[in-house]
Amino acid sequence: MSLSEFDLIEHYFKRTCTTENSGVAIGIGDDCAILDLPDGYQLAVSTDSLVCDVHFFADVDPYRLGYKALAVNLSDLAAMGATPKWVSLAITLPEMDELWLAEFSRGFFELANKFNVVLVGGDTTKGPLSITVSVKGIVPRGLALPRNNAQADELVCVSASLGEGALGLACKLNEHTVKNRQYFIDALELTEPRVELGILLRNLASSCIDISDGLTQDLRHILKSSNCSAKLELDKLPLSDLMREEIQTGSINEQSAYQYALTGGDDYELLFTISAANLAQLNKLIEKSEVTIPAISVIGFVTPLQQPLIQLFKQNEAVSFSLQGWDHFKGQI
Ligand SMILES: [Mg+2]
Repeated sequence: MSLSEFDLIEHYFKRTCTTENSGVAIGIGDDCAILDLPDGYQLAVSTDSLVCDVHFFADVDPYRLGYKALAVNLSDLAAMGATPKWVSLAITLPEMDELWLAEFSRGFFELANKFNVVLVGGDTTKGPLSITVSVKGIVPRGLALPRNNAQADELVCVSASLGEGALGLACKLNEHTVKNRQYFIDALELTEPRVELGILLRNLASSCIDISDGLTQDLRHILKSSNCSAKLELDKLPLSDLMREEIQTGSINEQSAYQYALTGGDDYELLFTISAANLAQLNKLIEKSEVTIPAISVIGFVTPLQQPLIQLFKQNEAVSFSLQGWDHFKGQI
């Protein structure tokens, strides 16, 4: 039995809205969704496409693809301090594969339900496999976290640990044989968007971005738009225990681990600038939080504008590192 586009939407993507106060006046199935914005809030909108053979492998587990397509979009909302509310989804598929769609929608809705995000519309088209997700969130007026407000002497901070997604990709490409292979592949494919942390940062951080293209590249976006520079301490870059284990057992060398942490991308951790006083307050809020929020590492500080934009130090000595990140139109820059 082959399903029509309408049947397909109905079957796999029309879910009863269970969220109270979802703000959905008219949801999926009409020409447009009609959404209510609470008084005193602004709308945050972000769209990301995932294209087969560019962002993911053709044989990727569809459950994980559905999960990640939403996760990377939620990460952008987190970077603005927005609370996720609604999402629309466009899928281009080479053929109607019901098993694939069932798994894709299972992954997508598992994460959507976790953050009470309601699917309010979408489109399906026949063609080369690609996924486009557009998320909408809300943020109290004036409290969105910009990129262009970093100030000299503030601390540069990052959540959780870095480089794991990049090592996961390297494992998939068989560039490394590591002990904890599946852990790193999970870090790549089952990204955890830092939504709760973004919300805590609203009143505390001066600038914020999520690390999708690599720490140095994404930090540059903050520094360029804020007219500042930064000094980073290599030894303060957070590497997970399992990453350190791989270094200790010789699966990867330390240089590679730092390269992944600095330039690998696919971390989806939050990178932000904050005053020392506000960081102390943030850490108290994290301690009190009912949901688990990852630890914050101070990796350096903001300086007045100077060249190079990012200076790296290792035990107080300046070190040079190739500060590349990934740019889709230029390749490695
Ligand atoms: Mg982003």
